[in-house]
Amino acid sequence: MIPYGRQSIADEDVDAVVRVLTSDWLTQGPLVPAFEQAVAASVGAAHAVAMSSATAALHVACLALDVGPGDRVWTSPNTFVASANCARYCAAQVDFVDIDPLTYNLSVAALVSKLEEAERTATLPKVLVVVHFAGQSADMAAIQGLARRYGFKIIEDASHAIGGDYLGAPIGNGAYCDITIFSFHPVKIITTAEGGMAMTNDSRLAQRMRRLRSHGITRDGGEMQRGSEGPWYYEQIELGFNYRMTDLQAALGLSQHRRIGAFVDRRRQLANRYDKLLAALPLQLPHRTVDANSAWHLYVIQVDAKRTSMDRRTLFERLRARGIGVNVHYIPVHLQPYYQALGFRRGQFPQAESYYANAISLPLYFDLQPAQQDEVVAALRAELLQ
Ligand SMILES: *Cc1c(COP(=O)(O)O)cnc(C)c1O
Repeated sequence: MIPYGRQSIADEDVDAVVRVLTSDWLTQGPLVPAFEQAVAASVGAAHAVAMSSATAALHVACLALDVGPGDRVWTSPNTFVASANCARYCAAQVDFVDIDPLTYNLSVAALVSKLEEAERTATLPKVLVVVHFAGQSADMAAIQGLARRYGFKIIEDASHAIGGDYLGAPIGNGAYCDITIFSFHPVKIITTAEGGMAMTNDSRLAQRMRRLRSHGITRDGGEMQRGSEGPWYYEQIELGFNYRMTDLQAALGLSQHRRIGAFVDRRRQLANRYDKLLAALPLQLPHRTVDANSAWHLYVIQVDAKRTSMDRRTLFERLRARGIGVNVHYIPVHLQPYYQALGFRRGQFPQAESYYANAISLPLYFDLQPAQQDEVVAALRAELLQ
């Protein structure tokens, strides 16, 4: 089976991790700040806080922005559940903004009308979690303008998008948001096995996120309430977590990060090649906006029901039967039973629902060989042109 995504591990990655195993540090040690500095420098952010997953980083980012009971957090329904769950961890209310049918990112038009309505009913959100779907930036300039007008904070869930850029600058530089989150799950652009990172240009947010990732404990005299009782002394001044990244993970991340340019270039080449090879088939191919360069986490096609009688499920099952490990991203979050129990209903976010009805993610990863990609294309042609 050709998977839809997988990690690329080189000998140098293995060596880097093995070296840590015989060093003094297995948990968070010197390689965590080294990895943080490398990512911060490459995207142009002032601060980076590595964590045990992007989910943990999203949770801590919400807490650092003071999300709590009674607050509202909005996100896209076309995302992994973690983009919404982070608000639920803080006992906030979640709501969704429907997607743009071309980019599959949160629709700015839908956001505008939802904000106008929320202003009338005094139900404006505290935080908007913007997802850069498949690695292509959402329309951040417009969204930032709305954030200023309506007074909400922005977390960019850039789990798909490290290595991508927007208006000529790297995603993660914080020009349009308060905090950006990267994921280093193995199917993402670079991996630390499990792992994530929060980027920010605000030193207070960075300090708060560092404290929250480690039990809410501080060793900084300036933050202490009682003052030091000796060199051993620390204070827990709020309720935090153990969301730390290990040095083993940071060694892998640092080593992978050295090849991020090559990783994204190869994904882009493969995406361009899919575009050419699939052009004649009854499919809607990914739309590229002029202001963004995608990191190409995903290559999503939609079955075009106007041009073929083949439905998504049949095509999906036949591709799987041919050894093509296709996938679907995403089941709209508001349709998940957990969110249905909170009161969301089918039909509420029709663009996300109709996108979901037709979407298939094709295999796309650094080590995907052109011959394997040809196999994917041949299987699609055989099923769609028969
Ligand atoms: C993968 C992913 C996450 C969660 O990442 P983890 O590192 O697995 O916690 C969150 N949001 C989006 C959009 C993702 O794709």
